Amino acid sequence: MIASSSRFAESLFWYLLVLTGCAILLFEFGPERVLDIKAWPLTVAVQQPADAASGVARYRPSVEGHPGVECTLVTSPASYPGCGLILTLTSRDQGINLARFATLHIRLSVTGSGEQDWRFYLRNFNPVYDQSDDPVQPKFNEIIFRPADYGQEHEVPLDVFTPATWWIKRYKVPLQRQGPDLHRVYAMEIVAGSEMLPGVHRVVIEELQFHGPWLDPTLFYRLILLVWFIYGSGVLLINHLAMKQRLQHAHQAKLEVEALNRSLSEESRRSRELACYDPLTGALNRLGGERLLAELGELACSFIYIDVDHFKLINDTHGHPVGDEVLKHLVSKILLHCDALCHLVRWGGEEFVLVCLHYDALRACALAERLRAALESCPQWPLALRVTASFGVAERTNESLDQVLKRADEALYQAKTQGRNRVACN
Ligand code: GH3
Ligand code: MG
Ligand code: MG
Repeated sequence: MIASSSRFAESLFWYLLVLTGCAILLFEFGPERVLDIKAWPLTVAVQQPADAASGVARYRPSVEGHPGVECTLVTSPASYPGCGLILTLTSRDQGINLARFATLHIRLSVTGSGEQDWRFYLRNFNPVYDQSDDPVQPKFNEIIFRPADYGQEHEVPLDVFTPATWWIKRYKVPLQRQGPDLHRVYAMEIVAGSEMLPGVHRVVIEELQFHGPWLDPTLFYRLILLVWFIYGSGVLLINHLAMKQRLQHAHQAKLEVEALNRSLSEESRRSRELACYDPLTGALNRLGGERLLAELGELACSFIYIDVDHFKLINDTHGHPVGDEVLKHLVSKILLHCDALCHLVRWGGEEFVLVCLHYDALRACALAERLRAALESCPQWPLALRVTASFGVAERTNESLDQVLKRADEALYQAKTQGRNRVACN
């Protein structure tokens, strides 16, 4: 799941990269948003000068039907309104948001004698400030159009529009409001400027288009950043989860290995233990006996060497399996009389050594005697045989365990030579 997510994140990276490249190319060099004012349902009106004596305006469109005005000026225009043309886009309080556009494409056909100094206004309504019905109050965003200086066709960046200074003075506009505002443009005006000489002047608006990107560049690049931020966060999250899952797997594997090791060591402990026991009788075998002796250290103890009397005869007479049964019975009988301090070791064949911890010779001899009597008087031997054993006892003094064992063996030998079925203490 996490692995496939990582693969998905990697493919997504390439898709996003290509998509981002295409989006930027399209945004920078693709088709623009265009608002063609001539296709807009305009209301065109002539604006007469404020002072009727200074001149007269007459609507004079071109042959192609482009809106135009002819100004016959008697004096140079002194104040607003001057002779001109008003193109109304919407009602005053509605307006169009031209701030979304970047440039104005304008082509004017201007004729007339002397200096041509046309003022082009974008009238913007602001509901906060423009409360009265005063038609001059909405902001005059202005550019000055001088065909003699700039030619007839312009591509004007919208941020060069500035409020007309006479308008700022007239309404004592505070500094904060003196910037351009094109968020609610409801009309455009073109009027004769103050430097135009008396005479006949004509202007025709042949082309008027606003161009701009489909999205605000800041918003566009912020969106791209946001997409990559979301992608980066997603990848980080996936990596974090993958790392967590890997850690969990590693931890799980570690636990499993530990459990396996535990069970293996338990098994080997059990098999090591089993290796110390005689499978026939259940007593400790020679290996187990030697390990026991190795662990004794300086512990006080006594050894009782036990040997079945004439065991070969039992085997020879009744067969080996009966002999085995006799050995098993012997061991269970001995253990019945022993306490937790005594450990029975099958030393070899039908010979056993009983290791009695903290037993002195007296106590060990007494135990050996009890065992001897118990075996002799036991009625449950296989085939109701009569089985006896001889015992050699030796207490540990300041000597090695081998020497104690040897003395116990010598005592056993004595018991045998003295007629068997007896206990000899050394
Ligand atoms: P003694 O009274 O002198 O001890 O005579 P014995 O016959 O008991 O001693 P001996 O050493 O002559 O014989 C021991 C016999 O024990 C010989 C061997 O075949 C037998 N034996 C040893 N281990 C086993 C066993 O695991 N099972 C059986 N059935 N017999 C065993
Ligand atoms: Mg024997
Ligand atoms: Mg023997």
